[in-house]
Amino acid sequence: MENMESRSKILLQHPISPPSFHNGGSPCYHSARGHPQSQLDARTTQVASITSARRRGNHSDPIMSVSVTFVGSGDSFGSGGRFNTCILVDAPRIRFCIDFGASSLIALERLDIPHNTIDAILLTHLHGDHCGGIPFLLVDAMLGAKRDRPLTIAGPKDTSERLKVVAEAMMPGMHVMVPKFPITYLDLPLLRTCDVGPVRVTTFPAIHTQATNPTSMRVEIADKVIAYTGDSEWTEHVPALADGADLFIAECYFFRKPVRFHFNYPDLVTHKTEIRAKRIVLTHLGKEMLANIDSVSEQCAYDGLVIAL
Ligand SMILES: [Zn+2]
Ligand SMILES: [Zn+2]
Repeated sequence: MENMESRSKILLQHPISPPSFHNGGSPCYHSARGHPQSQLDARTTQVASITSARRRGNHSDPIMSVSVTFVGSGDSFGSGGRFNTCILVDAPRIRFCIDFGASSLIALERLDIPHNTIDAILLTHLHGDHCGGIPFLLVDAMLGAKRDRPLTIAGPKDTSERLKVVAEAMMPGMHVMVPKFPITYLDLPLLRTCDVGPVRVTTFPAIHTQATNPTSMRVEIADKVIAYTGDSEWTEHVPALADGADLFIAECYFFRKPVRFHFNYPDLVTHKTEIRAKRIVLTHLGKEMLANIDSVSEQCAYDGLVIAL
C-alpha cells in the first residue's frame, strides 16, 4: 500500500486505448445482421464446459471465439442462493465482465476464475447488485492478488465519481491506496457507441431507478453481438438493442406480477416478436420467477452457465 495525496493519477492512466465515440453525438444503432428465423430456431444452445485454460484467462482457445459465463444470475437479494449479476465474456484479446455485483468475487472464486484475469468491467447501472463488487476487487487486486494487469471500468454517466463514493463507503480508508496497475474509468454517454479496447459498446436508455443512471447495453466483440437489458422495464429501444444479436440477455424478475422498473416475464410474452435475436437467455431471476421456472420455455441462466457463441 502506498500513501498518495490524490487518486487523480489513477484516472489519467490509459491501459488500453481511450474510448472513441462514433457518429458525432447522434444516436447510433448498428444495423442488424439478418438471419432467417428457421436458421435461428435450428440453432441449439451450446453449453460448454469451462476448460482450465479458459478459467485462467487463456484467450487463445481456438474452439470458442466468444463465450459467455453467467458468474451471477440472481437478483439483489440472493434469491435461490444465486449470486448478484456478473456476466463474464471471453473473447480473443480480452476477458471482460458486464456488471459486477457485490457478491461477484465470491462467485468468481466458486468458478475458479481469478479476477486478475479480467481486463475490463462494463456497468449497466449503479445499483450495488450490479457494481458493488468493484471495491472488493480493487482492494484485493492491490493487496492480496498483486495485480499488474491494466483494468478498465466503464459505466453510465458519473460512474467515475460515484464508484469512488461507493468504494469509500464500503471500504473506508481505501482512498489512500494507490494501485500499482493502470486503471482507467470511463463514463459512457447514452445512445453513443464507444470502443473499450476491442469491445464496441452502445448504451441505450433504460427505465429503472433514475438515480442509478440506468442503461441497457449492446456489446460487439469478435463479430458477435451480446445485448443486455440491464435492469429495466420494456422500452422503445429494446428492438434496436436486441436486433440481430447472437445473444439477448433479458432480466426477468417476476413471472406473473409485472413489477415497475424491471423486465418481467409478461413483458417478454407481450413483446417477444419484437425481439429479433438469435438466442434469448433470462437472468436476474427473483423468488417468484424461480418458483415458476418450469413453466418458462426460454432458457434461464444459472450461476456457472457457459454459452459459446
Ligand atoms: Zn439488479
Ligand atoms: Zn438495479
